[in-house]
Amino acid sequence: MRDLAALPKAHLHLHFTGSMRLETLVELASSAHARLPSSFLEGDPLHVPADHRGWFRFQRAYDTARHLVVTEEIMRRIVLEAALDDAAEGSRRLEIQVDPTSYAPFVGGITPALEIILDAAKQATILSGVEVAVIVAASRIRHPLEARTLARLAAHYAGDEPGTVVGFGLSNDERAGETTSWGPAFAIARRAGLASLPHGGELLGPEHVRNVVSALGPTRLGHGIRTSEDPDLLDAVAAAGISLEVCPASNVCLGVYREPGDVPLPALLEHGAQVALGADDPLLFQSRLVDQYQIARDQGLDDAALAELARGSIRASLASPSSKREWLAQVDAWLAADD
Ligand SMILES: [Zn+2]
Repeated sequence: MRDLAALPKAHLHLHFTGSMRLETLVELASSAHARLPSSFLEGDPLHVPADHRGWFRFQRAYDTARHLVVTEEIMRRIVLEAALDDAAEGSRRLEIQVDPTSYAPFVGGITPALEIILDAAKQATILSGVEVAVIVAASRIRHPLEARTLARLAAHYAGDEPGTVVGFGLSNDERAGETTSWGPAFAIARRAGLASLPHGGELLGPEHVRNVVSALGPTRLGHGIRTSEDPDLLDAVAAAGISLEVCPASNVCLGVYREPGDVPLPALLEHGAQVALGADDPLLFQSRLVDQYQIARDQGLDDAALAELARGSIRASLASPSSKREWLAQVDAWLAADD
């Protein structure tokens, strides 16, 4: 069996604070004299039921980490460490998702907060060799008007180079808010050439996917795993070229499926969906990018199928055609080498 860390791939679903190394969190807590919940200290992956209470516990754990991100230096460190960890796992391209609102109070506003992240992404690209691009994500638990402000900010920094904003997302509890109310924010982002990258179809099923697809016109769906419950919808999503950012460990930790083996990845692939595996929040789920490919291998995917998954992640990325060509050739070389 070939080494999955050597398989060239793109990482398209990773949240800024959720990407943090556990050691970094422990160090930040210690210098802030803050107490961490014992689950963090023991390195246990979060496990919650897929209901409101479960989401609340997830959010509380996430906030524990977020409240320790209070300086420019820490923000830069998180981006760099995410890129270095990705590099060690064979990633060639990281599209990291951030809502700058949370960090704005410590650095003088959402504009400097985003500028810090973008500059850190530029630096991290040079230092890690992984292209780091940024997705600005609005939150479903805040007012849709705030999302429009964020979309205008994202549009201002839109680009296609590493260290620019390449997409606009929508995260947090899928059950919160009316999906159509974020349509205007996504329209602002789309007019600036940004890809539409909302979460959808993880905690909620096919009906939610339909709403997100019709209201927000996704380029890719964050998760979209539950599209698998409606084969006709899945065929339509695949035919429309909407890629799915599938995060198996996250699905299990958030109670969507009981076991990694239950994540219906094979069903998505059988229907021709383009899938990019992602780690989502490795800090909370204690499962990084290569672990997602290992889950796929454990589900019976052979090396040729795993190479095809990696190609899917590269094709679904927003990297330049020349970068994609180079990495796809590297995937072929990985597969051609003796195992
Ligand atoms: Zn996510």
